Amino acid sequence: ARRYIFEKQFEGLPKSTDLRLVEEELPPIKDGEFLAEAVYLSVDPYMRAYAPRLSLGRTFIGSQVAKIIESKNDKFPVGKYVVGEFGWRTHSISDGRPLEVGRPGAWLAPELEGLPLSYTLGILGMPGNTAYFGFLELCKPKSGETVAVTGAAGAVGSIVGQIAKIKGCTVIGIAGSDEKGKWLVNELKFDHFINYKDPDFEKKLAQAAPKGIDCYFDNVGGQISTTIMNKMNLFGRVAVCGAISGYNDKSAARADPVQFPLVFSQLKMEGFVVHRWADRWFEGILQNKKWIKEGKLRYKETVTEGFENMFKAFVDMLQGGNTGKAIVKV
Ligand code: NDP
Repeated sequence: ARRYIFEKQFEGLPKSTDLRLVEEELPPIKDGEFLAEAVYLSVDPYMRAYAPRLSLGRTFIGSQVAKIIESKNDKFPVGKYVVGEFGWRTHSISDGRPLEVGRPGAWLAPELEGLPLSYTLGILGMPGNTAYFGFLELCKPKSGETVAVTGAAGAVGSIVGQIAKIKGCTVIGIAGSDEKGKWLVNELKFDHFINYKDPDFEKKLAQAAPKGIDCYFDNVGGQISTTIMNKMNLFGRVAVCGAISGYNDKSAARADPVQFPLVFSQLKMEGFVVHRWADRWFEGILQNKKWIKEGKLRYKETVTEGFENMFKAFVDMLQGGNTGKAIVKV
């Protein structure tokens, strides 16, 4: 079995020497446990965001979908697949503790009806539910409204924009490359794309939203979000999902006057962690699966091959190398 140990706290962009790959033998499984072999592993921004709170010497955090290869637990039979928050490791021993708020869980992969197994780490898993619950529950979009989403070509953002289209909204996607923009507009049918690196970002935003913005799904924070919030209508809703623009920023003291639009437009801004809906987890997965089957949701993955390339996949994703969900195939 191989795993990555969290060796050194990240400073700025993570370095490969901050993690250490080790090989070891696992003990035999006990009653109630099973042994699972990783098939796909996920690399996600939260790994960077949560790192300052992790103790050194532990296995680095993350989810994977794994095949059960040995079992002494009837609920987790050999041959089935399990989605588990097992960390960056090729082999995991687990007792199948369920998903709950505040601690890692493991659950049997949902019935996929022919869809790829890796979707359980994206649209039919945590990022899909982040889009489904975070957008619908916090933004409460109404047909005809204008929705802006940042990180729009990523795992969460690409699904948020498509759900907004399903709900009859006008969608403005914001991401960091024109190539990603083409995918959003041509294939996912977003109404507008704006590259946040464009010096005319603010002007283009005003052109794309002549009636102002009603809902904003914020994946990035920082100056981009301040600019967007200043274009929002009275009583707009902001779902604060993440702030990736600051995750690798060493200068923690950045003063963003987001308060001005919050006050003057009487906005409702609410942050969330997707595990808030742990008790409705499979509702999100089943609805997203239905929308895929109906052709209403499209999905893309950026796949890196090899467990030894986990770190590369992680850092590429942090720098925008992925379109859609970034995953690693063992
Ligand atoms: P993505 O698939 O969107 O990958 C990350 C993307 O962030 C990159 O592809 C890159 O795209 C973009 N990015 C990197 N640096 C910057 C920057 N400085 N400014 C703007 N964009 C940047 O990741 P996810 O969809 O998995 O996650 C998106 C967000 O949602 C993250 O902030 C994450 O922490 C958050 N999240 C929150 C959850 C919750 O429960 N609240 C659950 C899951 C995710 P580009 O080319 O466009 O720059």
